[in-house]
Amino acid sequence: MLRDVPFGWYATSMFALVGLTLVETRGVGAGGPKATHLAEAVTLAIYYIALTGFCRSFLSITRWRRLLDALTLPVLGAIVALIFVEKVTGWRGYGYVLDEVLQAALLVLLFVRGVAARDQGFAPARFYLIAFVFAAAGILINDLNLHGVIFPHQNLTRAFDAGIALEALLFALALADRNRALSALIRLDGLTGIANRRSFDGALARAWDRSRRSHSALGVLMIDVDHFKRYNDTHGHQAGDEILRRVAEGVEAAVLRPDDVAARYGGEEFAIVLPLAEGEASRVVGERVRVNVRALAIPYPEAPTGIITVSVGVASTRPAESGVSPAKLLESADAALYQAKREGRDKVVLAPLERSTPDPAIR
Ligand code: GH3
Ligand code: MG
Ligand code: MG
Repeated sequence: MLRDVPFGWYATSMFALVGLTLVETRGVGAGGPKATHLAEAVTLAIYYIALTGFCRSFLSITRWRRLLDALTLPVLGAIVALIFVEKVTGWRGYGYVLDEVLQAALLVLLFVRGVAARDQGFAPARFYLIAFVFAAAGILINDLNLHGVIFPHQNLTRAFDAGIALEALLFALALADRNRALSALIRLDGLTGIANRRSFDGALARAWDRSRRSHSALGVLMIDVDHFKRYNDTHGHQAGDEILRRVAEGVEAAVLRPDDVAARYGGEEFAIVLPLAEGEASRVVGERVRVNVRALAIPYPEAPTGIITVSVGVASTRPAESGVSPAKLLESADAALYQAKREGRDKVVLAPLERSTPDPAIR
């Protein structure tokens, strides 16, 4: 968590706000007004630095990053410098105008950054933009009130606090949204976009436990593209990658139940875990995979069939009765896969595992 840079900046900005509130409402005790001003200067400067740090690290943008940085960082530097000069020396050369202009410029730049991120496809930026609208509204109401433009006889400094509080809340939502997107990403295979090996291992372990407790069956499929090395050697790795993307679609389309998980197991191999599926039901899914891939009719002139095909090894067991391990089940599916290869490829073979361990209780 501490290695999460946007979260670190976010937490820092929250600490700074808390510090600022404490200093403003209670002062710093024995230090006197001078020390209070300095403490205000430090916390405010930290807040602006952390806010900018959060926005820069959180929003992932590719275009305009340099330009926005080149504009944002000098403005931030000027704000921090001005805060110190004013708080420490009490100097107010241009009244509040310079402060307000610089702070407005920083907020506009950080807002533009959010718009750019959203336009470049970074979805969590939407929370970020709403957060900004709240904060800006709070600051604007507070400032207009302070300068006597609206409701001159009322104290609306709470508007500022409310705006900042809502901003903080929405930034937290934006972080959560981003973390959700990231955790989805680490479960998917980068090339094909289907579940990856990590997801498959998790799904198998969960399905295994469930099957063992409910004394039900569990099937796994191992799927391997036929003669794929020759395809890569002849048509190149890029073309091979494209085949894997399309085969992955065919594999995933064979899975119909919500609890079934189709994954890229590694290289040109795919795997499916089928909770509650007995041998025959698993074989049917394997057959659907084989037919799906054939139906894609991806040309492969050098292959005996003229198109891309896959071989499928199937194994199913009842974990509670058979006493085998998940690794053993996968091994059986793998053995069945190699039998399918030996028997000429473009085939589905069901491992004899389940038949060798009949289940007297259920059948
Ligand atoms: P078989 O029908 O017996 O499965 O023959 P094969 O050539 O498919 O078997 P083998 O396991 O020898 O070859 C697998 C090949 O898959 C090796 C490599 O060229 C290719 N491959 C593995 N991972 C990738 C990948 O991510 N992208 C591409 N383009 N090719 C891959
Ligand atoms: Mg292989
Ligand atoms: Mg292969």
